[in-house]
Amino acid sequence: MSIRDFIPEWSVPRQIKGADRWALGPAAQSRHQAQLTPRTKKADRVVKSVCPYCAVGCGQRIFVENEKITQIEGDPASPISRGRLCPKGSATRSLVQSPMREYKVKYRRPYGTEWEELSLDEAMDMIADRVIKTREETWEDEDEEGCHLHRTLGFAHLGGATLDNEENYLIKKFFTAMGAIQIENQARI
Ligand code: SF4
Repeated sequence: MSIRDFIPEWSVPRQIKGADRWALGPAAQSRHQAQLTPRTKKADRVVKSVCPYCAVGCGQRIFVENEKITQIEGDPASPISRGRLCPKGSATRSLVQSPMREYKVKYRRPYGTEWEELSLDEAMDMIADRVIKTREETWEDEDEEGCHLHRTLGFAHLGGATLDNEENYLIKKFFTAMGAIQIENQARI
């Protein structure tokens, strides 16, 4: 590039001649940059949502183009997060569209070295059978002094951060009804 071509491309003359003396705006912009447009500009619609990853519940703006998510950003209107998302919340597009997302139940048998694919029905039946069997084998009706216990210490429940209030309410009721006393949720910030 000759010096004649270079000078107009250089930010310093624009800084000196124009209003943007500190080169915080247009003076610092190259011709290439000026032609760039954010991919959010092409979105067909923007859907408001809440980040599902943890109990903070940051507000999200989800940009959709051709029924595919193209970008997820913090929602400035959210009184909780005021436009911010942490790295997990910023990556939630992958939660929906990552090619690595699993859609099948994976099971590794005791002493197995490979993952097997199970149908959801088969996996649910296996879980139900084990819960019933464990409950029968570990049920404690009363203690040695005859006080009622009506419980099992044979299984516990640990909820994930993507469960909402209503789901946690139902899980607590269900596991308490089965006699479990170790019921927790991982989400606590
Ligand atoms: S994971 Fe991050 S972005 Fe999502 S709700 Fe929690 S703090 Fe907010």
